[in-house]
Amino acid sequence: MNMFHNTGIESYLSDESGIVGSASWIAFPQSKADLCKLLHIVREAGEPLTIQGARTGLRGQAVPQGGYIINLTKMCAIEAFRFDSATSSASVKLQAGVTLEQLDDWLRIKAPTEFADDESKMHWERYCSWDGTLYFVPNPSEKTATLGGLIAEDAVGSYVLCGGDLAQNILDKDVILSENVIVSLTLALHPRPAQRYGLMSYHKDCAEAEAFVETMRGYAFGMESTQVLAAEWFDSVCREILADTQNTHLLPDAVSLWTEFAADSEDRLLTLLAHALELLEQADIVFADRALVVAEGRDFNFLQNIRHTLTERLNEKDYGALPLLLDCAVLPNVSAKAVSTIKEHLEGAEIPYALMGRAATGHITVRLLPNEAHHAAANQIIERLADELSY
Ligand SMILES: Cc1cc2nc3c(=O)[nH]c(=O)nc-3n(C[C@H](O)[C@H](O)[C@H](O)COP(=O)(O)OP(=O)(O)OC[C@H]3O[C@@H](n4cnc5c(N)ncnc54)[C@H](O)[C@@H]3O)c2cc1C
Repeated sequence: MNMFHNTGIESYLSDESGIVGSASWIAFPQSKADLCKLLHIVREAGEPLTIQGARTGLRGQAVPQGGYIINLTKMCAIEAFRFDSATSSASVKLQAGVTLEQLDDWLRIKAPTEFADDESKMHWERYCSWDGTLYFVPNPSEKTATLGGLIAEDAVGSYVLCGGDLAQNILDKDVILSENVIVSLTLALHPRPAQRYGLMSYHKDCAEAEAFVETMRGYAFGMESTQVLAAEWFDSVCREILADTQNTHLLPDAVSLWTEFAADSEDRLLTLLAHALELLEQADIVFADRALVVAEGRDFNFLQNIRHTLTERLNEKDYGALPLLLDCAVLPNVSAKAVSTIKEHLEGAEIPYALMGRAATGHITVRLLPNEAHHAAANQIIERLADELSY
């Protein structure tokens, strides 16, 4: 049976970039066998093919340019849990259409599953009676994205600082090489840290925020079982994005820095936080008295999600033309210099922009928000930046 159809295809012609494409046929395979049959039909037809996950991409990569769409969101089975006693490590095999949200839910509610072998089954039963949870460490914030889409996009999450590099957490993958379609994946799972605290602090510039994070990582390294999990900064221009909300006070006129700390005990965590607050005071850091310390809970989740909220708001607003996105990965020690270069190019350009990054990793994201009249100029700036930042 041919699984391609065109009912409701209009809903699948765009993604989060806002770009709209076209296609004649769409199908939703549920298994590798379905997928192989569909790929065969497309090959025979010799027409363009677009593979889609959850269409949350920001750069139009899932937007079809005619022909066929194969959407993988119905390939969403969690196939087997494995525990390897030799390395004391847990992993899960799943289809590529599973979303981060589905994976998190499965691990949180400890839903029934299949097992790689009897030993894995025994460890799963222990897991079910354990207080804690396992998690997939990389934390690209868009929970509705599929694992296949995240890997195809080489997504970067906030926990890249603490072993959350996506590639390092993929233990195996099944790929149909002729079309480069990821069919299934085996992901490493780790125990979620027992205790986490977050700190929102404010700095005069990116260099100061980066230095603060490095010092805190040094402190954490010198203490037992403590860690800086994540450190995300937001340039003061980001406050404009929240201008019509109740939350502008969270991003004052400074570089805002969200740092997450973890430890195996609350005492250790509080010692680390005391160091952080002392450092803020001693260094005469801007708005030191406004720094916010939050334990896990609603406020923690809200602040941890600031980058995601900003990205969502940028997607929702109509600026009169499509925003332009540049994701850069520079060496961490030239991050502050790269930020200065970006700001020099944008000052006086009369194009609103958002600028944020992940401290100590060299990841910087710039979004230009031109209206139609400034679109060509914005494109030129992005091209120049892409050239200049490739040191
Ligand atoms: C609010 C928001 C916040 C975000 N935050 C982050 C962030 O912090 N870090 C970050 O890196 N990204 C972020 N993103 C972007 C995110 O990386 C992408 O949304 C995600 O990677 C795409 O997954 P998807 O399932 O939606 O794939 P789609 O958007 O459907 O597809 C993206 C690309 O992957 C390909 N693809 C999809 N599935 C497969 C497969 N199984 N095999 C082969 N190719 C496939 C598609 O052909 C397309 O080229 C954010 C997006 C949003 C909307």
